Amino acid sequence: MPQPPPAIQSLDLAEIEAVLAERGQPKYRATQVARWLYDKRATGFAGMTDLPAALRSNLAEAFAFVRLENLRVLGSSDTTRKYLFRLPPVREGAEGALIESVLIPASPALYGEASDRRTICMSTQVGCAYGCKFCASGLDGFSRNLTAAEIVGQFIEVERLSGEKINNIVFMGMGEPLANFANLMRAVDILNSPWGIGLGARHITISTSGLAPQIRELADQPRQIRLAISLHGATDAVRDQIMPVNRKYPLAELLDACAYFAGRKKQRLTFEYILIEGVNDSPANAADLVRLARRVGAKVNCIPYNNVEGLDWKRPDEARQDAFMAVLETARIPATIRREKGHDIAAACGQLRRQTMAQAPAAPAAAPAA
Ligand code: SAH
Ligand code: SF4
Repeated sequence: MPQPPPAIQSLDLAEIEAVLAERGQPKYRATQVARWLYDKRATGFAGMTDLPAALRSNLAEAFAFVRLENLRVLGSSDTTRKYLFRLPPVREGAEGALIESVLIPASPALYGEASDRRTICMSTQVGCAYGCKFCASGLDGFSRNLTAAEIVGQFIEVERLSGEKINNIVFMGMGEPLANFANLMRAVDILNSPWGIGLGARHITISTSGLAPQIRELADQPRQIRLAISLHGATDAVRDQIMPVNRKYPLAELLDACAYFAGRKKQRLTFEYILIEGVNDSPANAADLVRLARRVGAKVNCIPYNNVEGLDWKRPDEARQDAFMAVLETARIPATIRREKGHDIAAACGQLRRQTMAQAPAAPAAAPAA
């Protein structure tokens, strides 16, 4: 079966220039194309009206124009909103996979800064191969990496659908971002560059379950992107129990990579720490966490566990959460607790997709439900 052509939205500016040069076009045409894609947000080649018609149709033959199809929106304008998208099929006749993006309104607890931020939480893969025991995204295994066009497409579609300007990005949706390193870096280039979306690198956070070699690679990149580590356990015994990735990159190796990153970037990184009852939420667990946070100068973001259908883990009650936070506070570790806003709409990553697939396993494109 024929593969679809590459997407124009997966190219960087130099590559667009090269594509146009091959077609005998001057360099400024590349800037025109980029402006159509990321500034005027064209929905196809036909709308790029200041390009010669012959060039438009030539590009349309050589490149795909990726658009994500919105199937459902959950939540309302002053709450967390969740968007379910269908990706373009990878082969002609195949069904496009489902992914989720989440729009989170201003929240002083998220990443510490009180502000009027609107944050998008984006997916980087269909499913996830890392199989953390508490997470809905890994339950159905891994299907494929998202292309750069599909990653950036989430930003563009959520801005369009919500009518809001997004000023913060977290890669905390479905998938392990650092396992899709090349496409992620391409997407970050487009999101960060002045010719692309133009969002400051400090407003882009990558979250990883702990891929130590890729953390080092990221540290060697010039961009000042922020890094969050999904720690969830501060000893190998706890992490081994809930995160299989820890057997590959145990804490000592992960912490070395974190220290390397913090040193190279002169940046304070964030430890994400889900509180799961009876697993990692005792005051002794908090004391272990204090030691690691001190070692690499990390701040801590605690998240009470979001219950996932079919999984037995539970969120601790508020008294237990408070006791955990008190240990961090006494030790003067900068720490916040994020009381999730999106509980009622299947907020934990991967859940909306699972619910939708369970309802209609092989459904054709459903009508959008706004
Ligand atoms: N794979 C990357 C990014 C996606 S997961 C990572 O693991 O960091 C984004 C965050 O959501 C991670 O910190 C993850 O551990 C957390 N998460 C997953 N399932 C959750 C749940 N049920 N409740 C709360 N947080 C959850
Ligand atoms: Fe994958 Fe992250 Fe979920 Fe672990 S927490 S299964 S790495 S998406």
